[in-house]
Amino acid sequence: MIEAVGLTKRYGERVAVDRLSFTVRPGQVTGFLGPNGAGKSTTMRMILGLDAPTAGRVTVNGRPFVTLDNPMREVGALLDAKAIHGGRSAYHHLLCLAQSNNLPRRRVDEVLDVVGLTAVARKRSKGFSLGMGQRLGIATALLGDPKVLMFDEPVNGLDPEGILWIRNLMRSLAAEGRTVLVSSHLMSEMEHTADHLLVIGRGRMIADCTVREFIDRNSALAVRARTPEPERLTAVVTAAGGKAVHEPDGALLITELPLPRVGDLAFDHGIRLHELAPLQASLEQAFMELTKDSVEYHAAIPGEQQ
Ligand code: ADP
Repeated sequence: MIEAVGLTKRYGERVAVDRLSFTVRPGQVTGFLGPNGAGKSTTMRMILGLDAPTAGRVTVNGRPFVTLDNPMREVGALLDAKAIHGGRSAYHHLLCLAQSNNLPRRRVDEVLDVVGLTAVARKRSKGFSLGMGQRLGIATALLGDPKVLMFDEPVNGLDPEGILWIRNLMRSLAAEGRTVLVSSHLMSEMEHTADHLLVIGRGRMIADCTVREFIDRNSALAVRARTPEPERLTAVVTAAGGKAVHEPDGALLITELPLPRVGDLAFDHGIRLHELAPLQASLEQAFMELTKDSVEYHAAIPGEQQ
């Protein structure tokens, strides 16, 4: 369990993290989402005691990180996958950590196995690909068999196979009852990985809810209808307070009326329907909508005018 109360970090005039209060619970994957510069890494660094809060506090299993007796047994974190001594082998890197933290030697082989690096464990990690470095970073986080795990943008730069592997790993760690906090600026990634979401923008909490709630709250539900009488259906829908627009493919996109109501209206007026389907914005769309005012730097989207 991770608990933050009024957590704040200022760098001079800049407020990187602004009075965040949240609880990250065990047994589920919590997605920590926000555009670049939103304050995710700063928050994670404060959880790990690498940065001191300007105000507020954060605890891991009820205690500030710096007061934990055996930190590696309580929290594992992947912050910067490149922070590994390149001249050492993966095996050696993990063995040194195990020895200096009083962890059993067998954990080294166990975590190498979990991350699939056993075959290359004796090679120098300098020649590791980004994906292999990422796996070694995750092995390091798992070494102490901690109940709390944090991953900062773990899928950055990985190929689809690596992304799928990380996604499955997060899910299985949560299924074992661990607390899993994973940050990303990619909403599409969280849609299939996270159970719960903490969404921040400019250091502030924007949403603290389940993935389902997030989509339901932030995306307007639309209904897609296909009928041989689009003009009549448009008139009926408009009269009932809805809005209907013609899609390029001939379908009608109806908003502001629930789907059963559209079906009932068509039935009542004897309008034949060939299709009636709910259309839900993806998590990506919902996130963009919600954070559009809190993005620090707007990047031009190719093909779109600013
Ligand atoms: P994220 O991880 O969501 O991309 P960060 O936590 O890295 O965001 O950054 C949040 C804000 O704090 C950004 O505006 C960033 O420029 C600023 N920031 C982060 N670290 C420092 C630092 N050491 N000194 C000054 N500003 C910082």
